[in-house]
Amino acid sequence: MLDCSYIKDAIRYSIRQKKQANPDSGCNIKQAPKERCRCKGMQYTMNHEAFMGLALDQAAAVAARGEFPVGCVIVQDGQVVARGARFGTSPDRSMVSEVDHAEIRALRNLEICQQAVVPQNCTLFCTMEPCLMCFGAILLAGLGTIVYAFEDPMGGGTSCDLRFLPPLYRDSRVQVIRGICRQKSLDLFYNFFNKEANRYWKNSFLEAYVRKQHQMPGKNK
Ligand SMILES: [Zn+2]
Repeated sequence: MLDCSYIKDAIRYSIRQKKQANPDSGCNIKQAPKERCRCKGMQYTMNHEAFMGLALDQAAAVAARGEFPVGCVIVQDGQVVARGARFGTSPDRSMVSEVDHAEIRALRNLEICQQAVVPQNCTLFCTMEPCLMCFGAILLAGLGTIVYAFEDPMGGGTSCDLRFLPPLYRDSRVQVIRGICRQKSLDLFYNFFNKEANRYWKNSFLEAYVRKQHQMPGKNK
C-alpha cells in the first residue's frame, strides 16, 4: 500500500541536508536543490538527493543489523511506491542469500503496490550500482531510470553493453544516473568493512576498492 509519508520524509531530508550545509539558512522546500530530468520525452522535476537519502536511510538501518548496507526506493511521479533493503548477509546466517538484493526486494514490493504503476515512469534509487542480476530484473520490469550512489567495480552490471545482447535487453532505453550521494554510501560500506563481525565480501576486491576510495576525500563530494 502506498505510504505518502515518504514524500514528507523526502522533503524533510532535503531540508535537513540544506541546513547541514548552511545551518544559518532558514531554508524551506522551495530552496532545496532540484534537478531537471528528461526521461523518454516525459519531463519531470525530481530531487535526486532527497530520494537517495531515503535509500541511504534504509541501508543504514539494515547495516545496524549486520547486513550489507544497500537500500533502494522506487519513485513514480514524485512519490515513493516501493522500497527494499539488502537481506541475507548478516554474520549469523549459515548461508548468504544472493537473491535478496535491495533492488529485487523493491521490485517485489512494486508488484504489490496498491497504486497504478507505469514502469516506464518509475525511477529506481539504489545506494549501490545494481549487479547484473538486478540490472537484468530492472530492464525486464521496464523501469525508465536508475539512479545509484556508489559504483560497484566488482559486480556492477550497468556498464554492460546492451547492444550485444538479445532484443529483450538490447531494445531497453533505461537511463542510468551515477554518483548521487556517493560519499554517504561509501561511508556506509567503509564502516561495514571495519566491523570485525561482518564477513560478507571480506578481503574481496570490493573491500580493497572501498578502502582506497575512502582515502581519497578530494575525489568525493
Ligand atoms: Zn543485485
